[in-house]
Amino acid sequence: MFESLSERLESAFKQLKGEGRISEINVASTIKEIRRALVDADVNYKIAKELTDRIREKAMGEKVITAISPGQLMVKIVKDELSELMGGTEAELELKTNPTVILIAGLQGSGKTTFSGKLANFLKTKKNKKPLLIAADIYRPAAIDQLKVLGEQIGVEVYSEPENKNAVQIAENGIKQAKANGNTVVIIDTAGRLAVDEVMMNEVANVKAAVKPQEILFVVDSMTGQDAVNTAKTFNERLDFTGVVLTKLDGDTRGGAALTIRYTVDKPIKFVSMGEKLDTLDVFYPERMAQRILG
Ligand code: GDP
Repeated sequence: MFESLSERLESAFKQLKGEGRISEINVASTIKEIRRALVDADVNYKIAKELTDRIREKAMGEKVITAISPGQLMVKIVKDELSELMGGTEAELELKTNPTVILIAGLQGSGKTTFSGKLANFLKTKKNKKPLLIAADIYRPAAIDQLKVLGEQIGVEVYSEPENKNAVQIAENGIKQAKANGNTVVIIDTAGRLAVDEVMMNEVANVKAAVKPQEILFVVDSMTGQDAVNTAKTFNERLDFTGVVLTKLDGDTRGGAALTIRYTVDKPIKFVSMGEKLDTLDVFYPERMAQRILG
């Protein structure tokens, strides 16, 4: 599919022998290679350009030590830069409040409900929490059933009011029940639409205003490339979310959307989802994603 950037850089530097430092001339051609590889990996062109300008500055005058080749040195510089841009270290959830309220938002089909189940399972098994899932999708009865099935699989209770068409009330009632039952985390799965629309945005914004969640996680399908970035921008403007969840990374996307979203909305990516099985939720590690983008 893609030739990896590491391979491209290695071959771009093949000619270069006996020079002790990376110079203007030998950097110029490789910068182009890096930019092309980033764009191939779904990184927005403008961002790829800014990034490579920075990389050029960093690389210039770098001493090439004998232990590694200039190509390898460039790969390291690029990888460090990408990783830094995506936050450097992993971002944790804020779980101090009792119960912690986590609102899940995103387009229909992005993987919200699946992620809600995965997150509940993660918090239960890895963080010793007692989660309650709230099904607040008032448009698709099937979404409630889907969440119930997931809840049964992981042994987590699901709160729903199939007859109620008021998402704010459902969320508030669910939180009341969580407090009464001693749940330490509440995960609210909200409705999504196929495209961003006002009704959906108002509804999620109203739920946010009513329940004041500690975390608002925006779920986005990594396969949707540049669209993912535009959607992230719109949701962030309305919801000011606290983190991003990148789903369907088990597909063949390179993951450049992670970089572009981080760069555009300046919010941490907290989790990646790599499959439909409930135990495949992964914390987001910038360095691993940098490696994936580089190939
Ligand atoms: P929602 O409409 O946002 O709640 O999305 P769903 O959770 O129902 O997911 C939509 C489809 O994507 C379903 O068929 C899921 O099984 C699938 N899905 C969700 N997350 C992942 C993932 O990480 N990888 C893959 N391959 N499929 C996923």
